[in-house]
Amino acid sequence: MDNPQLLRIQENLKQLKLNRTGQQLEMLLQEASKNEISYSDFLDKLLEEELSLKCEKQTALNTALAKLPFIKTLEAFDFSFQPSIDVKIVRELATCAFIDRAENLVLLGPPGVGKSHLSVALGLKAIQKKYRVLFTPAAALIVNLNKAYAENRLEEKLKFYCVPKLLIIDEIGYVPVDVHGAHLLFQLISRRYERGSIILTSNRGFGQWGEIFGDQIIATAILDRLLHHSTVINIKGESYRLKEKQRAGLIRKQLNVPLPEGGDLDSVSPQI
Ligand code: ADP
Ligand code: MG
Repeated sequence: MDNPQLLRIQENLKQLKLNRTGQQLEMLLQEASKNEISYSDFLDKLLEEELSLKCEKQTALNTALAKLPFIKTLEAFDFSFQPSIDVKIVRELATCAFIDRAENLVLLGPPGVGKSHLSVALGLKAIQKKYRVLFTPAAALIVNLNKAYAENRLEEKLKFYCVPKLLIIDEIGYVPVDVHGAHLLFQLISRRYERGSIILTSNRGFGQWGEIFGDQIIATAILDRLLHHSTVINIKGESYRLKEKQRAGLIRKQLNVPLPEGGDLDSVSPQI
């Protein structure tokens, strides 16, 4: 390309960071003149595509920043397997209006019923709607808060966890939290109270939270802030992991593959 005007347009597009148009400029101009596209249609199409590319890039960046442990969508969630979940409530949550209202969501239930899956899927919906999201396992959050406190950086860390409009705290209750850690968690939940949403998952009912935190008073204070404006989904069902294992077991039976001692399907090799 030796047309000085084209070169100048390309340089300007580069400076404006309209890279897609820059790369395809000659082709786009040829097509427009061949199809006799109007000036306004040409500009309209060009800007639409640049914008959608920017959105895609932003979504990819925000997904990376959210530190989701895996990508699982709401569309991939089999609600028929978990009839205790009210689909209407989840659909309403997927609109992300609860994030605008700085309300919380607590997902309770035994292991394998889809708490983390749902929290990630709602996180993805929020990212699509351009909310900043951060996912953290509860244990890592407590470790980080304790570490920041010890290093005199607690304020900075609390601010960090208050930036995202949606904070997902996964798996409260799997490991006990020391009283100091519980106080730090309380500080975080108080700061986000009525300011930013939290999705929290736990395998323990609220009645057992005193045990998790080793202190009934702090557990009550955390629950008080968390539940004031919140939706609680209590999943009472079977583990999806178990269902998949059972299905694998059936297939094994049909193929005559023996189970190992103790019946641990995961240790059978090769995996089906
Ligand atoms: P929990 O956090 O409750 O222990 P997970 O969300 O980690 O459970 O779910 C365990 C596995 O089963 C994940 O791979 C998840 O995607 C899958 N899973 C759980 N429930 C469902 C469901 N109803 N439909 C589809 N996949 C599910
Ligand atoms: Mg989980």
